[in-house]
Amino acid sequence: MKATAMTEEHLMTPEEEDRLIEREFNDVLQGYLNSNHRKKVDIIERAYRFAKKAHSGIRRRSGEPYILHPIAVAKIASQEIGLGSTSICAALLHDVVEDTEYTVEDIERLFGKKIARIVAGLTKISGGIFGDQASAQAENFRKLLLTMSEDIRVVLIKMADRLHNMRTLGSMAPAKQYKIAGETLYIYAPLAHRLGLFEIKTELEDLSFKYEHPHAYERIAQQIRESEARRSAVYNDFSTPILKSLDRMGLNYDAKARLKSVYSIWRKMETKHVPFEEVYDLYAMRIIFDCDDPSQEKAICWNIYSAITDLYRLHPDRTRDWISNPKANGYQALHLTVMGPDGNWVEVQIRSRRMDEIAEKGFAAHWKYKIGEGDEESELNVWLRTIKDILDDPNPNAIDFLDTLKLNLFASEIVVFTPKGELITLPTESTVLDVAFELHSQIGTHCIAGKVNHKLVPLSHRLNSGDQVEVLTSQSQTPKEEWMGFLATAKARTRLRAALRREQQPMVDKGHEILNKFLADAEVEATNEIITKMMAFYKVTSRDALYYKLGTGELSLDGYILKESPKTEPSLLQKIFRIGRTAPRPAEPPLIVPERINLKETYHLRFDDSGRNFVFADCCRPIPGDDVMGFVNDLGQVEVHSLTCPRAQVLKAGHGTRIVSTSWDEVREKFLAEIHIEGVDRHGILQELTQMISNHLNIDIRSLHIDTDKEVFTCRLTVLVSDTEVVNQLCEKVRKIKGVQNAARVADGSETPTA
Ligand code: MN
Repeated sequence: MKATAMTEEHLMTPEEEDRLIEREFNDVLQGYLNSNHRKKVDIIERAYRFAKKAHSGIRRRSGEPYILHPIAVAKIASQEIGLGSTSICAALLHDVVEDTEYTVEDIERLFGKKIARIVAGLTKISGGIFGDQASAQAENFRKLLLTMSEDIRVVLIKMADRLHNMRTLGSMAPAKQYKIAGETLYIYAPLAHRLGLFEIKTELEDLSFKYEHPHAYERIAQQIRESEARRSAVYNDFSTPILKSLDRMGLNYDAKARLKSVYSIWRKMETKHVPFEEVYDLYAMRIIFDCDDPSQEKAICWNIYSAITDLYRLHPDRTRDWISNPKANGYQALHLTVMGPDGNWVEVQIRSRRMDEIAEKGFAAHWKYKIGEGDEESELNVWLRTIKDILDDPNPNAIDFLDTLKLNLFASEIVVFTPKGELITLPTESTVLDVAFELHSQIGTHCIAGKVNHKLVPLSHRLNSGDQVEVLTSQSQTPKEEWMGFLATAKARTRLRAALRREQQPMVDKGHEILNKFLADAEVEATNEIITKMMAFYKVTSRDALYYKLGTGELSLDGYILKESPKTEPSLLQKIFRIGRTAPRPAEPPLIVPERINLKETYHLRFDDSGRNFVFADCCRPIPGDDVMGFVNDLGQVEVHSLTCPRAQVLKAGHGTRIVSTSWDEVREKFLAEIHIEGVDRHGILQELTQMISNHLNIDIRSLHIDTDKEVFTCRLTVLVSDTEVVNQLCEKVRKIKGVQNAARVADGSETPTA
């Protein structure tokens, strides 16, 4: 029985209602006692009594007593997913914190930490995942997954909760039905698939489809009913010879026709543009055999395979061996497709009883068998790690996150091998570059090509299951924007995006500076409003994109007419400094003729009255005290680069014979250094900050830009200093100001430091 059929509950007396509730609960308890779990009846009874009291007097929209919902969720968790007492208790209690006066602390006091944590996780994700704003969806989904990686049972119980809500969706208002159905199809069904909960996935899809397309659903359901007699005759013709063979093999087995779900029939009709009559693979035959010895399972599967192919013609490329290579979600079976007596292809799925349980109940079934000392769980861990990898990216755009994740949830998989024989599961459409990023970010960003089955291929080459893939890299390779176009895995896209951000930062900074100077020259303040107008004018979608294109010179501010009037009354800060003006660089002293350079010896970077014996590289502008290296340029000059400069990396890799180690001699000049400060904008902090800096002796301040966004301020300060030591002292002082989160030097060519 699925939903609790309760059409006339309002006619029940309270006593009758109570008897019904007790009966439903006893059903849960009985199912639990029949399972292989340890028998912890006492705590389950206590959780039930507690939840019943907490929800007493409350009814669902359908009119039934509220407690019937948590009981139903507990029943699904126990009987359809196969979970144990902890989950049954958490399911019974799952709406208590959300809907009653009780807190998570109460639950912990009464039922312990473990159950309380799961209930807390479920309460956190109780709201609809689809909020009013798209970004809110992603945020909630992210939370959902974060909670999940803490305890997978949170998600499994959430799945049970959603399934019961879908089964009882009929009593909701139509607008809400539509929303919940969409959300189920978009998030829960794919998640159920990834967790290996195939039965639940199918039911969620069918129910969503029923509410989203009621007419199409009804039409197909009717066609299925009408074609039943003919179908069962065809199935009998097909299966009888197979069953005879299985009997001759002396097997204990169940064999049945598996009808395609309404939703998957509809999907096939839609994608292949065929009418119902032409969906030939309406059913598959499933054979489940009993086997006490797991080491014999594989051999029996192939014996059955051989018996069937003796009877029917095998489709050459539709055999799927999920026994040797189980799917990432744990699915194991042997599939083959043969031609039936009526000339149509029929799929046959062969599984042992153990494999069948795993297929139906997903990972929960592994807990029951507990074989291989956690081997099975490690597959799940690999998947969870993939999700964590995405979540760990420090700055993922929320929408990108949802999209990339959705990508992974929907894609079906291929399996490829590394030269060492390691197995990598990837979505279909994955390329050599996906494999490179899968192995490591560094391998991905430096990938130049691949060898697939020992043949050289470009990095955009799409892989097939079973390919052996070797990744070729080069130190001089840099990540490219256009790679986004042929990446299929969420992980690779996330990693590439992070690498591109790092790569583009110097140009973003340069463009930022250009824009600030342009506005400062016009004496216009760089407000959000003005920047937004400029973004619209240049048709770019983000600030960084605007800065980047200005930095690279792809866009020019020439001809842009500012309609805003110049700033009025100067502020306190402006009185102290010339805010918004990019500091002019000190005049370059003349370069003295370089001495003969001996690459084997350390080159002393000297400052004489007559000038310097080196030039500063324009890309990273190091200052004395920085870790630097020399590069002998085409003019024979020693060009000094910061060791963190990306260009220096390229030079080192490509022109190793022109690199010279250097040391700083006594400094006689001053240099511009930029400092990035960020913190919380408490009242008066900016004044305190500026007073502190201006009172700090020996530091010549050239410019100061302050941006505030709600409570957070960021500040870019340019000072004239002799070396890094002075900068470090200043940063240390600034960091001591209450409210300042971080202060650090920004080296050109490196990332903006963060706390
Ligand atoms: Mn609920």
